[in-house]
Amino acid sequence: MKAISPTRLADSGGCARSLYNSCPEYFEINENYLSSSNDQTEEQRAGKIVHNIIQYVFVGNDSEERRVRYENVLKAVENTKNNNKIDEFLIEINGNNNLEKGLIGHKIRTLLWNETGPLLHSTYNLLNEMEKKIENSKGKWKITAEDATRDVNNVQIKVLQEEMIVRTSIDLVFEFEDKVIIGELKTGSPEPYKIERWILQTQLMMKTWKIKYPKDKILGFIINGELKMKGNPLGTIRVSDFKEVEKLEYLDKDNLKPGKWQCKKCIVKDNCGSRTY
Ligand code: SF4
Repeated sequence: MKAISPTRLADSGGCARSLYNSCPEYFEINENYLSSSNDQTEEQRAGKIVHNIIQYVFVGNDSEERRVRYENVLKAVENTKNNNKIDEFLIEINGNNNLEKGLIGHKIRTLLWNETGPLLHSTYNLLNEMEKKIENSKGKWKITAEDATRDVNNVQIKVLQEEMIVRTSIDLVFEFEDKVIIGELKTGSPEPYKIERWILQTQLMMKTWKIKYPKDKILGFIINGELKMKGNPLGTIRVSDFKEVEKLEYLDKDNLKPGKWQCKKCIVKDNCGSRTY
């Protein structure tokens, strides 16, 4: 049986042939499987560090403690900017990794200044909106991240007429009673092709959750700090369903969907007459 992940699905852009060929057999996968199919770039590594900080702030169910963590992180980001050196508090949150070494140190500082504050803000906007919209939920949301979310890894799903195993982890899960919000944190510029990829990833997580916990009411949101500059004041995009993933269920594995970004990354492009890149 093959394994599928949100990243593999995003890389395929929904092209069945590309997806099918990039999904490994389940027994072949290792701990690196959940990262990109290609080597991670420095931006992706730096983005992961920003994610760790956002998760540190939001995980838990005490809203006062969350507010304190939020303010402490904002202060530490400000110190990082003023001193051109990563604040010790942020290093601690990231498990004392060598954040300052080499080029990655410079990239991380730039990302911390530019992205942490806006991404924190967008995440808070999402929480505030949900508290407003869902009655009696103010201050009662439980937030978990990655391995601490209810386990949805290794769920079986039908894709391209085959049973596959989903390998995934989720950036943030907000829960109140039977309402579940899957939050996908994204750094970087929200260009249209990236938003398409992010939606596919989030849809796979939502569908996987629904398979495992069919009674839950699920919403998905992409959370990005730069959306505000593009006229989206909350900094979030709602993913209202998982139709793109459901369409894949009965699609033939040789079905093609050419597109600049998926063809560029596609591992079978040398044997594909429809490639566009
Ligand atoms: S080259 Fe493009 S159209 Fe061809 S299989 Fe790959 S992604 Fe699909």
